[in-house]
Amino acid sequence: MALYAPSSPPARDPDVPYIGRFAPSPSGPLHFGSLIAALASWLDARAAQGRWLVRIEDLDAPRARAEATDQILRTLDALGLHWDGEVQYQSRRLDQYRAALARLDARGLTYPCACSRREIADSSLGADGARIYPGTCRNGLPAGRQARAVRVRATPGEIRFADRLQGELRQDVAEAVGDFILARADGVFAYQLAVVVDDAEQGVTDIVRGADLLDSTARQIFLQRLLGYPQPRYLHVPVAVNAAGEKLSKQTGARAVDSSAGSATLAAALTFLGQPAGPNASVRELLQEAVRRWDPARVPARRTLNV
Ligand SMILES: [Zn+2]
Repeated sequence: MALYAPSSPPARDPDVPYIGRFAPSPSGPLHFGSLIAALASWLDARAAQGRWLVRIEDLDAPRARAEATDQILRTLDALGLHWDGEVQYQSRRLDQYRAALARLDARGLTYPCACSRREIADSSLGADGARIYPGTCRNGLPAGRQARAVRVRATPGEIRFADRLQGELRQDVAEAVGDFILARADGVFAYQLAVVVDDAEQGVTDIVRGADLLDSTARQIFLQRLLGYPQPRYLHVPVAVNAAGEKLSKQTGARAVDSSAGSATLAAALTFLGQPAGPNASVRELLQEAVRRWDPARVPARRTLNV
């Protein structure tokens, strides 16, 4: 086996134009936690003179979420976080996900699974908090059972990658999560598949997002390799938590970002990211200065800041 030298993360090739993205799920208005991810990815893209895309992860019930999507986009705009090109919606890209799934299927890398959640409730918990799939349907559906999901065969072996902030990380997907779901039988594609297809087709070179997605990264790299996609660089920024230590989200009662207090909101987000934020600046001045001084090395790898 080749030696793996833990080294600094892959340097950016200056000949490849930077493409970053922010990919919110429209489960509610933009809150401080999602603003951190948006701002960090925007700053990283702008500091590299790159493009910054916005993609709405609305695979679940897209129509019901139109209002939240509008709110998110309006808030980004009001905070001066302008995106390049058209906003992309996952709900409009089902053909692409279907095609990727078909490619994996044609190579025998997927299989239908009939197991209900209850049937795998005895399996041990995986890295993502879900049960590790015990492989019941790997060699065919049990007689008389209907498929509920399509799973990918997770081959044993460590996935290693160097996060720009979190350092070297490794995960054996087969061991840590097992064969994972790519699509449900009712036609809803899994986040893991959709995000990998979208990032590749949009030419995303750099993914800057919250560290709550760190555990998904090995699965995504695993799928990138199966599909022959290039591997983007990763930078996982710390996640804002509430007083109870829970990640900020609509479910944990996070308040919507107040875009009318734009500079103060941005200054708080910059401080959270370990970046200098001068007082009494306009949104525009604050962002200009923040791009100029953006230093990912100053972002704390782990941070618990109660907001
Ligand atoms: Zn099964």
